[in-house]
Amino acid sequence: MTDEIATGDTATGDTATGAPRIRDLLAAGPTLSVEFFPPKTDEGMVQLEQTIDELEPLDLSYVSVTYGAAGNRETRGRTRDLVVGLNRDRRYPAMAHLTCMGHTRGELDELLEDYRANGVLDILALAGDPPADGSPVGGDFTYAEELVELVRSHGDGFSIGVAAHPELHPRSTERAGDRRHLAHKIELADFAVTQFFFDADDYLRLVDELAALGVTKPIVPGVMPLTNPQGVQRMATMAGATFPDRLAAAVEGASSPEDRQAIVVDAAVELAEALIAGGAPGLHLYCMNRSGTVTEIVNALGLR
Ligand code: FAD
Repeated sequence: MTDEIATGDTATGDTATGAPRIRDLLAAGPTLSVEFFPPKTDEGMVQLEQTIDELEPLDLSYVSVTYGAAGNRETRGRTRDLVVGLNRDRRYPAMAHLTCMGHTRGELDELLEDYRANGVLDILALAGDPPADGSPVGGDFTYAEELVELVRSHGDGFSIGVAAHPELHPRSTERAGDRRHLAHKIELADFAVTQFFFDADDYLRLVDELAALGVTKPIVPGVMPLTNPQGVQRMATMAGATFPDRLAAAVEGASSPEDRQAIVVDAAVELAEALIAGGAPGLHLYCMNRSGTVTEIVNALGLR
């Protein structure tokens, strides 16, 4: 990745609203993107709007917005409203995360047509997770690949991403099967975005294993700065990612807030540099709705 980040000005494809689709941005690549989550409160929304403004100088290629994470159905409408607003008001596309588990086909058909009508043509197609209390999932879907097929059935206008787990999906019982299902899913879609990880070799091995199965689509690495070690540890446990105890200890043992921030940024920059050197088609940064650390990382990488 060089300073030539793919933006709306460099990609060729476009949507009904004139903005490029993410598959086109990746083809023109490399891309720089961030993930937001829909805030649960009005205060959180004000904070996110400020973050979005502060990120403008980074000239992001695209952003993505999570959907009902951790089974939270209340935030689903907020995802839709946030994605529609970003696509309408910003110069980059916003990709809507969408999970299929627990949904009926009719519900998803309706949501996809609503997205299309509002100029949202970038979908991250996910399975989601079954309820933590073990209650039945319900709905018409089990796997993300079924959602990819449903989105495709709504026409070629949609650009479709899927999730990839470098250290295997937590529900996978063996490596070969995990990679086989993943390769099949990515071939139905346009690209993949990975779960976060802290060792570049996990990503490079994933890319090699998928290439051996014939996958040629872009696999965008997801990078999570370790700003909140306890929070990231909880997420890593759920996501099947190895938590770097040594790095967490260094962050916890920092001598000052400035020292702590420098450790977090240096670690993310080191990882990102290894990914870029390894040929990653872009970087997707998990920014936790804050701009400061992400801006420091991008500046340190010299991407802007
Ligand atoms: P799948 O691809 O369906 O895989 C799930 C499991 O099923 C794997 O073990 C796989 O090997 C297996 N499998 C797949 N196909 C088959 C098959 N045909 N037969 C047998 N087994 C099969 N969750 C949210 O709720 N909201 C979000 O916004 C969200 N965003 C995410 C963003 C990214 C980048 C990532 C990496 C994850 C995100 N998640 C989100 C989490 C995701 O929903 C969970 O990881 C979920 O457990 C699986 O989703 P998936 O799309 O990878 O599932």
